[in-house]
Amino acid sequence: MMGEPAKYVSSTNACRQCTPLGACLAFKGVRGAVPYLHGSQGCATYMRRYIISHFREPIDIASSALGEKQAVFGGGPNLKEGLVNVIGKYEPEVIGIATTCLTETIGDDVASILIEFDREWKASGKGEHPQLVRVSTPSYQGSHVEGFHATVRALADQLALDADGVKEKRVNLFPGIVSTADLRHLRELVEGFGLTATILPDYSDTLDGPALDRYMPISPGCTGVEDIKAMGASGASVEFGSLLPRKWSAGELLKERFGQRLETLGLPIGLRATDALFKALQSISGAATPARYKGQRGRLLDAYVDGHKYL
Ligand code: SF4
Repeated sequence: MMGEPAKYVSSTNACRQCTPLGACLAFKGVRGAVPYLHGSQGCATYMRRYIISHFREPIDIASSALGEKQAVFGGGPNLKEGLVNVIGKYEPEVIGIATTCLTETIGDDVASILIEFDREWKASGKGEHPQLVRVSTPSYQGSHVEGFHATVRALADQLALDADGVKEKRVNLFPGIVSTADLRHLRELVEGFGLTATILPDYSDTLDGPALDRYMPISPGCTGVEDIKAMGASGASVEFGSLLPRKWSAGELLKERFGQRLETLGLPIGLRATDALFKALQSISGAATPARYKGQRGRLLDAYVDGHKYL
């Protein structure tokens, strides 16, 4: 039947284009962290709604709530006032500050504003403020994927400390955007080799927690600031990012800064890519693959053989 030609639609899945959305997701994978958007309130509301409807968990995203006046004169005072409010309301361990389209366009110098905030906070005699981590995430430069990786790299860049050549039996794992069940499985897998895993980010608890009797402003669990600081002492990093540009790679940053061994792998989906992960873990740990995984691999191969004639 002849009908009207399909209408041309110039954008598909435009929701994917919000870079700080990826930053909020990554910050939710740090224990005690509150994502904080330097921009208008609408951005925070949109991202909160989007992440809540995907993960079905309550999450808060703070905002410096810029209006028309700040768009002209700069958002520094709002950013600092918002930080004071977030510290008072949530008592977070970390505040993850991501810029938005508006503040990137007006050119707010977030690094300088945070230096000023630090000076003013200390001068007021309030002691130490929570760890502040900032990331530049203009949405017109990428999608939520770039925002996610830029944030992981910013966390490693601004928190990981030099361990003076000390190498512990731990491995940094940068899994990229994977499901909460995948994160739990990956931790179990790495620990099966006798290694401690620092997974960055790990939102398996904050975005997939049990039903609670009362609302908790900050969900417990995940990778803590002290774990990220200790990343420099890990024996190696494993990064699922064979297509990841170097400028987004946290593993490359740690390798360059601390001379750390880096295994860049594809997502372990399918036999070949999964074998590469197991080979890397064997080599890093010096331990053999646990028998249960050998059994799983054998059963998968057997299923391929049994099923090939139907495919
Ligand atoms: S940061 Fe940009 S793309 Fe994201 S919600 Fe705000 S205006 Fe929209």
